[in-house]
Amino acid sequence: MAATISPFVSSRLARIPAELRGAGLDALVVTHLPNVRYLTGFSGSAGAVVLFAERAVLVVDFRYVTSAREIAAASGGEIAVEVAERTYDEAIAAVLRREDARRIGIEAAYMPVGRFNKLSAALASGPPSPLGSEEACPSLVATERFVERARVVKDAGEVKTLREGARLLSAVAREAAAFVRAGRSERDIAADIDAAVRRAGFERPAFETIVAGGPNSALPHARPGRRIVQQGEGVVLDFGGVYDGYCVDLTRTLHLGERGPAFRRLFAAVADAHAAAIAAVRPGIRPSEIDAAARDTLARHGLAEAFGHGTGHGLGLEVHEEPRITRVALAQPDAPVEPGMVFTIEPGAYVPGAGGVRIEDDVLVVDDGCEVLTDVPVEL
Ligand code: ZN
Ligand code: ZN
Repeated sequence: MAATISPFVSSRLARIPAELRGAGLDALVVTHLPNVRYLTGFSGSAGAVVLFAERAVLVVDFRYVTSAREIAAASGGEIAVEVAERTYDEAIAAVLRREDARRIGIEAAYMPVGRFNKLSAALASGPPSPLGSEEACPSLVATERFVERARVVKDAGEVKTLREGARLLSAVAREAAAFVRAGRSERDIAADIDAAVRRAGFERPAFETIVAGGPNSALPHARPGRRIVQQGEGVVLDFGGVYDGYCVDLTRTLHLGERGPAFRRLFAAVADAHAAAIAAVRPGIRPSEIDAAARDTLARHGLAEAFGHGTGHGLGLEVHEEPRITRVALAQPDAPVEPGMVFTIEPGAYVPGAGGVRIEDDVLVVDDGCEVLTDVPVEL
């Protein structure tokens, strides 16, 4: 496991004090592992960060003491290490009590109620406040998207990693066309793609690879099964890889043998929607407007009903993160996109029982539009 601290981690931590003060918090307990990794570079399978205005405390168990101490040593004092001797929650509570934190943020989206109660109990079991003290018992405060808001705009190190990941995934896509032959099962084709993803230098596939032939291609999230792909049908290939912790994601729809008019019509419409959405991407545009560019194009092709998912999703330490390129929805941020954001553009059209087409690329927002990070012809 890499235990080096990225030069960017320091600048990520530097943004925190103002954010904490702005939210009226003394500390933030970060338990969502991608956020832990973002803030510290720590990539273990368990861990937490307690953020204060002045520093961060990385809480790990005995398995990760060595790598955590290396991170702390490389951080120049910004990151300290706390080893959880018994439970994580007791260790987190001990760190918070030592710093006398009173208003403590937690990540509401990722903390189960049971854990919230345990952490509250661990905090309450500390020494009581002096009699007559104004200070109340420490309280846990639900926060939303505290670290995610920072993660949405990638820094130079992340852009470099995503650009390289997309380049490698594009090479896998070009290789994958040869795996798709009539008479092979979806599952075997998916296994070949997964092997190619690893050979290309990825740590692992970013999600379960989709290989969906014929009628299965009409299911946006089909799982590859025993079905044999046949001559004369379309096959959707949707796969991704994790490269140095960062996810890239790509879809192409192939066709075996001669294309019939129905497939040609679907393909032309989706290719049009894909091009329209990419052309729309520039700083200042809202995700819902990018989505509308794809959706309106499909509607003009008479396929409004055939596109039931969002146009794209952010990429980073997670394969589905902000920004969500979708229609405006309740509690869905629709803030204008900014340079440094990386997300997919993946319109599709699905005709139940017949088939579907999806085309997906990864884009980086730049000052004058976008850079398409993946580089594969739309028709493989
Ligand atoms: Zn995908
Ligand atoms: Zn995707």
